[in-house]
Amino acid sequence: MPLEDAHVTALATELGDIVARPGDPAYTDALGRIFFPDAARRHPSCVVRPRDARDVSAVLRIAGRTGGRVTVRGGGLSSTCVEDGAVLLDLSAHLTGVDVRDEGRAVVVQGGCRVGAVLTALAPTGRVLPVGIVGHAGLGLATRGGVGYLTRSRGLTLDHLTAVELVTPDGRTHDLSSASQGEDADLWWAVRGCAPAFGVVTAATFRTVEQGPMWVERLVFGLDGTDGAAALAAYFAVAPQCPREVTMGAVLGYSELAPGTPLLLVYTACAEPGAVDAARALDDEVQAATSALLLHRSERSGRYLAGLPEFAPPGADGADPSPIPLPEPGEVRGGFYGKSVFTGPTLDDAVADQLLAALRDAPTRACRIDFQHTGGALGDVADDATAFHGRSGEWNIPLNAIWDSPDQREAAQNWARRTVRLLDDHTVGVYSVEVRPGFLETPDEIVAAYGANLPRLRRLQGLIDPAGVLAYPLAGAS
Ligand SMILES: Cc1cc2nc3c(=O)[nH]c(=O)nc-3n(C[C@H](O)[C@H](O)[C@H](O)COP(=O)(O)OP(=O)(O)OC[C@H]3O[C@@H](n4cnc5c(N)ncnc54)[C@H](O)[C@@H]3O)c2cc1C
Repeated sequence: MPLEDAHVTALATELGDIVARPGDPAYTDALGRIFFPDAARRHPSCVVRPRDARDVSAVLRIAGRTGGRVTVRGGGLSSTCVEDGAVLLDLSAHLTGVDVRDEGRAVVVQGGCRVGAVLTALAPTGRVLPVGIVGHAGLGLATRGGVGYLTRSRGLTLDHLTAVELVTPDGRTHDLSSASQGEDADLWWAVRGCAPAFGVVTAATFRTVEQGPMWVERLVFGLDGTDGAAALAAYFAVAPQCPREVTMGAVLGYSELAPGTPLLLVYTACAEPGAVDAARALDDEVQAATSALLLHRSERSGRYLAGLPEFAPPGADGADPSPIPLPEPGEVRGGFYGKSVFTGPTLDDAVADQLLAALRDAPTRACRIDFQHTGGALGDVADDATAFHGRSGEWNIPLNAIWDSPDQREAAQNWARRTVRLLDDHTVGVYSVEVRPGFLETPDEIVAAYGANLPRLRRLQGLIDPAGVLAYPLAGAS
């Protein structure tokens, strides 16, 4: 009997109908709900939908005993949550509970919970957990980073973790926190930046922050003219001057607002009412510094995160862009390939020219370059205090190559590879959430993603997962 059949049979014998085999509706459904099309097309050996931490422990022990490998699906927004031939442990089926504690000062979530559900549960308390720009993400974001509109003022999502329940590949449960000692202290360090390499987080506790409505202003420039890049250069010059309460993100891309025209969206968000005038003045400064055509300028206040406009250029006639949809099983889907780097505050006129040229050269109009403004509180924590690396970043820059037809795949992937190289002189880190397994560049990206923390992570991985049960890429070029 082939190896994968042995572990599937053992899992089904011990765990019964929470195990779905290829061809079972639950198997097809679980894969159809994975966000990235390439990941959704993979063939795990089976899908297991655990009901509690005991099931998780059983899956890891059985896989270890029978030579199986395991990937974990939280929110399902990454390409590392599913692998050919490995067990797909789908936490999103049953482990989605959210428990608000201490009048909202803390929140305890189960391992398959989405951050949007956390914010909804916290809403009546006037408190929030700083997360990314979409509510769909799960603990893969919360344990590997978490960059969003509150990073500059409050830090990463993972900086708000206060305790984690982790099931390691030997099936043991560890309660981790700043009080942990010995090997558990190492694990507490590691789960804040690299949890998937060490176990399954079945519960996580976060401290929350008080947050009233946020103010957002959006400016959109058409970059058609010869000096189109000047608007981007002006943005690069002004954003680092923002106070911590103000974050000035941007998107370089296309929309129906001006079909065929490269656009720059400047998205300024303010966490404190007292800083709104300063934020507006900084937007004025960007506008004054460029002769690019201003196509749209509007402001509004709303509840974090659901009440804020999407981080994308407005559509036709300035219409709000729709939220990013989650896939439905059976949908015909194109492809997506991303890169994400942290850069210092040094982005300048030359790189603005090159990035605009790269956008014009993009193989599809869905390709875009995002500038998530970080700096501020991101750097309040030392790079070696947690496993997360890249704290000196002023920006996190996700590059998104998006295509519909398989024959655009190679051109789109090469576009992302070429474009990220334009940022080389400014790059201070690679964001681990966009490191994809199985590409030529993956080993080097792993080294850049964890920097000086990588040797400690690899040593610990050798102790915690010697048989390599968890299929999470941490092996890189030495
Ligand atoms: C549309 C979109 C928008 C995004 N926006 C942002 C953003 O604004 N800011 C930002 O920082 N990032 C953003 N990201 C990146 C996001 O942080 C990563 O995709 C992240 O991995 C999502 O986590 P997940 O749990 O949803 O995904 P999954 O694919 O389920 O998990 C990601 C990784 O974490 C592991 N994992 C998940 N849950 C657990 C658990 N409970 N225990 C152990 N391991 C687990 C998985 O095995 C996998 O390796 C975005 C991604 C997308 C697709």
